[in-house]
Formats: sequence, C-alpha cells, structure tokens
Amino acid sequence: MGPPPGLACAARSASSPPSCVACKGATAEAQGLCPACWSGIGFIERPYCERLGTPFAIDLGDGVVSPAAIAEPPAFARARAVCRFDGTARELVHRLKYGDRLELAITLGRMMTQAGREILIEADCVVPVPLHRTRLWRRRFNQAAALAQVVARQSGIAFAPDALTRVKRTKQQIGLTRPQRVENLQGAFKVLPSMRATIAGRRILLIDDVLTTGSTANAAARALLRAGASDVDVLTFARVVTDG
Ligand SMILES: [Zn+2]
Repeated sequence: MGPPPGLACAARSASSPPSCVACKGATAEAQGLCPACWSGIGFIERPYCERLGTPFAIDLGDGVVSPAAIAEPPAFARARAVCRFDGTARELVHRLKYGDRLELAITLGRMMTQAGREILIEADCVVPVPLHRTRLWRRRFNQAAALAQVVARQSGIAFAPDALTRVKRTKQQIGLTRPQRVENLQGAFKVLPSMRATIAGRRILLIDDVLTTGSTANAAARALLRAGASDVDVLTFARVVTDG
C-alpha cells in the first residue's frame, strides 16, 4: 500500500525547485545553468579554424584554416567544441567525471548537439573515445560515452559505443610533452574485427569531454580511418585554447 493520495501530492509539491547544474543556485529550467554560470562559459563561435576549431581573433572569411592545422594536419577532418576549457566549463567537466554524472551529461550533451549541428548533419555514426577497461572498472563511468549517447539520441544518429576499443593502458597525458603524448598513444585504440562493418565507409563523429592537444582525438581518428571510416569529425564539450 502506498501513501494516501493527499500525502503523495504533498510530497511531490515539496520537491526542490530547479537548480543550476554548476552552482546549485536557482534557475528557471531543470538541468540548466543560471545566468551567472552561463556568462562564465567561454563559448566558441566563428571565426575559427575550419579544421581544428580554434578561435581566431579576427575574421578572415569563410573556410580559413589556421597555420597550426597547415603545419601539422590532424587525422580528423574537423574538430568542434562548445566552449573553452576554463572557468565554469572546467568545473562542469570535473563534476561530470567525478560527481553528479548523468544529469550533467544531459545538459552538456545538449549543448554539444547545438554547437556541433553543422558536423552532425553529415555524420553517420556517433562513437565515444573509450576508456581502458581497468580504468572503466575503477571509475565505472565513461564520461565520453555518456555525452555521446545524449548527442546520438538528440540528433537521431546511430550510436556505436563499442566501435573503438582502448587496447593499451596509456599513462595520464598531463605533464607529457607533445612527442611523449604521441608515443604514449601509439597503438592505444583499435576497431575490433566485429565492429568493422559498423565503421567502414561511414563518416564518424568522435565524442570526448575535452580536447587538449588533440593527440587522443588524432590517435582515435587514425584507428577509425584504418578500419575504413570515410572521415572522422570530433566534437567535445570543451577544448583547451592557448591564446597568442
Ligand atoms: Zn550557476
């Protein structure tokens, strides 16, 4: 037997009002950000490099590629992100990884669907950057997979959570130099033979929470291309932007 109808009703109306996913302050909408936190996010908008998605200080016109992308072309075709990895965004990513996870994945995933709408139009399949199974076992949650699931569902694109496998347990990338990062990720990702049919000939949208130097995205994109993907685009919630 449940509580009498009157009591159930009182319990529902006493539920807390919507709160900001970053600071827990009052918001108008559930799973949203309050105006203060929203203004603390460094949204990335055009003009930016068409390949790397890094913002430009001045608008040089459509389709311009940065010197960095020309000097060292990435394996992926295009990278896009909602915002810079600082302030509120950094806090949100940290909370997604270690704190209130699913609620945040919905909020951040929605923002990614919005920011990535141009590349989503052309995507055939959404694939998350995988964690190594021992790390997944310890943390029991892959934030990239949670975000990818939201993006796939919102955009109606096929979701292939197991398309990529992390076959090498890599060291944390933090503190490594660029060549060390590349070395660390050498052979880290693989498309298992059983997943090749899902990837071959498809344009893949690779999802991660943060893009730092792009080494991880490049290594994952290379594995997908080796398995026959026609192209790989990358969508992250945040990205590190080094000004100047
Ligand atoms: Zn807030």
